[in-house]
Amino acid sequence: MTHVPHDAPGLHARHQAVLPSWLALYYDRPLEITHGEGRHVWDAEGNRYLDFFGGILTTMTAHALPEVTKAVAEQAGRILHTSTLYLSRPMVELAERIATLSGIPDARVFFTTSGTEATDTALLLATCYRRSNQILAMRNSYHGRSFSAVGVTGNHSWSPTSLSPLQTLYVHGGIRTRGPYAHLNDRDYITACVADLEDVLDQTAGGVAALIAEPVQGVGGFTAPPDGLYAAFREVLARHGILWISDEVQTGWGRTGDHFWGWQAHADNGPPDLLTFAKGIGNGMSLGGVVARAEVMNSLPANSISTFGGSPITMAAGLANLTYLLEHDLQGNARRVGGLLIERLRGVAAGLDVVREVRGRGLMIGVELVRPGTGDRSPEAASLVLEAARERGLLVGKGGQGGATLRIAPPMTLTVAEAEEGAELLAQALEEAQGRLVGS
Ligand code: PMP
Repeated sequence: MTHVPHDAPGLHARHQAVLPSWLALYYDRPLEITHGEGRHVWDAEGNRYLDFFGGILTTMTAHALPEVTKAVAEQAGRILHTSTLYLSRPMVELAERIATLSGIPDARVFFTTSGTEATDTALLLATCYRRSNQILAMRNSYHGRSFSAVGVTGNHSWSPTSLSPLQTLYVHGGIRTRGPYAHLNDRDYITACVADLEDVLDQTAGGVAALIAEPVQGVGGFTAPPDGLYAAFREVLARHGILWISDEVQTGWGRTGDHFWGWQAHADNGPPDLLTFAKGIGNGMSLGGVVARAEVMNSLPANSISTFGGSPITMAAGLANLTYLLEHDLQGNARRVGGLLIERLRGVAAGLDVVREVRGRGLMIGVELVRPGTGDRSPEAASLVLEAARERGLLVGKGGQGGATLRIAPPMTLTVAEAEEGAELLAQALEEAQGRLVGS
């Protein structure tokens, strides 16, 4: 292991001097992570952490998974790049596997280098296919930070930055616990959201291109509508010829345990027309993509290339990672270990006023925090818990409305012992944060 000298404060100052002010950093003393193994990472001071955020779900299987490292090293030793102008065996093989797994009939796959580029491409395809720049998106959504992706992002920290040429219409349904329908039971909630969608469509002159939606909102705080909402939406969309884009950047590859893709919780009316993926599939390599019905994918009136999309090195990583995921049934592991973790955390939450709700599925778990006494959503509590967990050797994420939800999404090889250890550390951190808030 290479020794990395500890200079985190100096590095922080240099970071601030040269990187954008809007590039967020976690922690009062930002963390410099130098290496990882399995479900653990180490910082430059040599501290070890149980990683419950996996670099925002980018570490799908495990840190430094030997199978992926070997595949990447072998590929790097042969050739790093040729571009899409030449045939590439790993690209065809990975595309074949993803096309089959996607559930989309007659699927075509286009590889990108990020989730943002996947969103951008999906919007490009949908707008070209439908010859319309009108897009439906969900309130509180996040789809990336390119010009078009920000234009369909309903999350408050990003949406004001957009001067997008897309005409975006936001609809209800993304966050079950907020908005005018929050008090309704699941069935009535879906009915109300469908009526809202129909109302929004009535107010357009027609020709909306697509609806883009995350089955479980990620940045939005790991919050999901009741199962079946998008199936009900689908019926309306189909009547108008509107495409459904399912953003599976966070929910794909079995992370939610019950399903391989998030859209499958809404499967009654079939798969989406387009699906986007990124983050975990490369296990840290910048790999994303779009799957679409051939008719939609091939509608692009272009004769194009992608310089880095589908590069042999990311394809090698994706193939090795996906093979490991399927051979070790990590979806099943996410369901079992994630279920246990949710149960443990609900037990912890029952004794604490600072927790409003533990929600989620598989290894995509949100813990929404409030100020004890007032019950107001508390980003301050989330920051306190993040710091207190870090001090105890546990990394978690945060997000959601005002940043008041802890986000838990460990690598999908998480063991029962690690889940129990993490739940215990988080319980201590929550207690400490509650004590501070009550005392303040
Ligand atoms: N879609 C979703 C649902 C995401 O969570 C993200 C990233 N947080 C993106 C798109 C954008 O991906 P990237 O950061 O790789 O550009």
